[in-house]
Amino acid sequence: MGRLTDRVVLVTGGSRGIGRAIVETAVREGAAVAFFDLEEKAGIALREELTANGGRVVFAQVDVTDGQALSTAVADVLAAYGCVDVLVNNAGRNVYADPVSMTEAEWDQVFDVDLKAAFLCAKHTLPSMIERGGGSIVNIASLHAKLTCDGMYPYAAAKSGLVGLTRSMALNVAKHGVRVNAVSPGYIRTALVDEYFAQHPDRDVERKALEVHPLGRIGTAEEVAEVVCFLASDAASFVTGADWAVDGGLGVRFA
Ligand code: NDP
Repeated sequence: MGRLTDRVVLVTGGSRGIGRAIVETAVREGAAVAFFDLEEKAGIALREELTANGGRVVFAQVDVTDGQALSTAVADVLAAYGCVDVLVNNAGRNVYADPVSMTEAEWDQVFDVDLKAAFLCAKHTLPSMIERGGGSIVNIASLHAKLTCDGMYPYAAAKSGLVGLTRSMALNVAKHGVRVNAVSPGYIRTALVDEYFAQHPDRDVERKALEVHPLGRIGTAEEVAEVVCFLASDAASFVTGADWAVDGGLGVRFA
């Protein structure tokens, strides 16, 4: 028996990176998985690979900032599996804006993906959880919700908002047996972190980042996925409203 046997898990941004690792781990733990992503080719390839190995997996190309498209896609998941037990709000993006030159449209794009999408996905999946008297939502926030670095304005604001949303929603839905937690990764080796290193003006930024990690390395997507699947499972039955760091100790470092 896996930790998520017979559970239906919905993951956003599941085609690559941390989301992909969550999809793979949830399937290995016995779940039926649905995932949404903008990346259609990678999504189809992952679905084919997992179903060929006996996994129950559905994929839809959905922009999770589009409430109408999301409503239809969640309805399709409910038609396929009958319910959603676990929602993982993982889709997100980095931002490297400037407080003066950033436009309102750019601001909205960031907050739509990094914050509003979590509200929308919960809005459409919570009715199924409430009807069944339980469920679990895991929001992928970031170490940036606590500490941030120059050049990533206003990523910290969106991710802090997501941790606040986690607390607010956790209190609101606890009476229905639904738990809501955040996971805050530090540096995790994905395309997103590679993009961060590549756009940074300091060519030595990657070596410097490694140097300050208490564990002496950057994390893997699989290490985040393990914590997410733990929080999603009954093993975490008394955990709600929490923000779990998966950062190799970086977030407790002062000097
Ligand atoms: P990746 O960019 O590697 O993967 C994110 C996936 O989400 C991509 O496939 C992306 O598609 C998809 N996506 C983005 N926007 C949307 C959207 N509107 N609708 C549907 N899918 C979308 O990122 P990571 O795996 O690194 O990050 C996953 C989460 O973890 C994010 O929320 C990120 O902020 C958070 N995080 C990551 C850290 C890291 O070090 N990697 C550290 C802390 C937090 P596309 O490529 O087409 O944009």
